Amino acid sequence: MLRICVMGSGSGGNATYVGSEKTHLLIDFGLSTRRVAESLLQIGVHTDDIQGVVISHEHTDHVKGLTTFTRRFCAPIFLSRPTLEALTGVTINGSREIIEVGMAFRIGDLDILPFPVSHDAADPAGFLIRHQGMQVAHVTDLGCITEAIRYRVQGSDVLIIESNHDEEMLKIGPYPWPLKQRVLSRLGHLSNRDLAAYLQNDFDGRARTIVLAHLSQKNNHPELARLSAQEALAERSAARSDSFEVILAQQDTLSPVITIG
Ligand SMILES: [Zn+2]
Ligand SMILES: [Zn+2]
Repeated sequence: MLRICVMGSGSGGNATYVGSEKTHLLIDFGLSTRRVAESLLQIGVHTDDIQGVVISHEHTDHVKGLTTFTRRFCAPIFLSRPTLEALTGVTINGSREIIEVGMAFRIGDLDILPFPVSHDAADPAGFLIRHQGMQVAHVTDLGCITEAIRYRVQGSDVLIIESNHDEEMLKIGPYPWPLKQRVLSRLGHLSNRDLAAYLQNDFDGRARTIVLAHLSQKNNHPELARLSAQEALAERSAARSDSFEVILAQQDTLSPVITIG
């Protein structure tokens, strides 16, 4: 059995829980320790039971809670050396485990494979979490879905994937032009349109639950993101009887708990 819950998602902070009966871990720690502890309690997990935190990249919205968390709790932080060296304004007080993007490792009874994504960070990673033949893919903060990423996420039972912005909203929105260019670039963030193209043309259809994550609060609207993904999924499954659940991860509230197996 695997349970997944996105505790918060977006440029204001990110953290996702993935756990089996025995092992509990977090992907990223960009929320306050208090907020994470409260969210975990809501799903019946105590923060003391967290056995590891895996870090996707060094951007503040993915790491800013680490200083306080590692002062109070002893779970090791798993991150690559380039990510560790690029951390600014954050101190890891407890133990850390150096991982290599592309090399699988294990925490308790969960197998974790970090894989490279295209984003303007030192060594950004997506993650596959595997347990008893089940697989969860967590891919946010990426400018584009490369062939390698398509290949990696195949066979996932749950897909947590970025649907950052609506390109039109971004273009007319409040961001200064250089920031717009950054978000739109191949090293930036994934648009609703890019995700829709993937879901329609390349997604293998195995995951019945798709979580749209890291939505921009300024350059996207949750219903636009949902519609875009649902239309793409409907398009691909027009000739079949596939049905998919689309969940929107939110900045300020935790997602429903997804249970598989
Ligand atoms: Zn981010
Ligand atoms: Zn980022």
